[in-house]
Amino acid sequence: MAEETVFGKIVSGEIPVTRLAETERVIAFHDMAPQAPVHILVIPKSTAYANVTELAAGDPALLAEMVAVAKQLAEEHANGEYRLVFNNGPTAGQTVFHVHAHVLAGGLEESALLGS
Ligand code: AMP
Repeated sequence: MAEETVFGKIVSGEIPVTRLAETERVIAFHDMAPQAPVHILVIPKSTAYANVTELAAGDPALLAEMVAVAKQLAEEHANGEYRLVFNNGPTAGQTVFHVHAHVLAGGLEESALLGS
């Protein structure tokens, strides 16, 4: 079981956020420090997984559900194209140890890491 994190408090409602999408197992909300025109976090309601490696091993269907929600959000908030980022571990930039997908979209053509 992961330690309680800020995202656990968002799932429980202790920290209120606008839920941009919600399924039985997943919620999505705006990142408080956006790094792109569209920057939404998709998280599972379960606090059992600290990072995507654990999630992929433990519940791949839940990971697939997060990707489906990310796609739906990219269609609603941008043109349907999006970048999905999972930071894994402190030296890779992870600060919250409740698995979350960063959905980044909108005008990313000039940004780094596109591989072009
Ligand atoms: P990471 O660095 O990959 O662990 O991402 C954590 C993200 O959570 C950062 O982009 C933060 O801006 C974001 N964040 C932290 N607390 C909140 C909050 N209360 N509401 C929305 N986003 C948050």
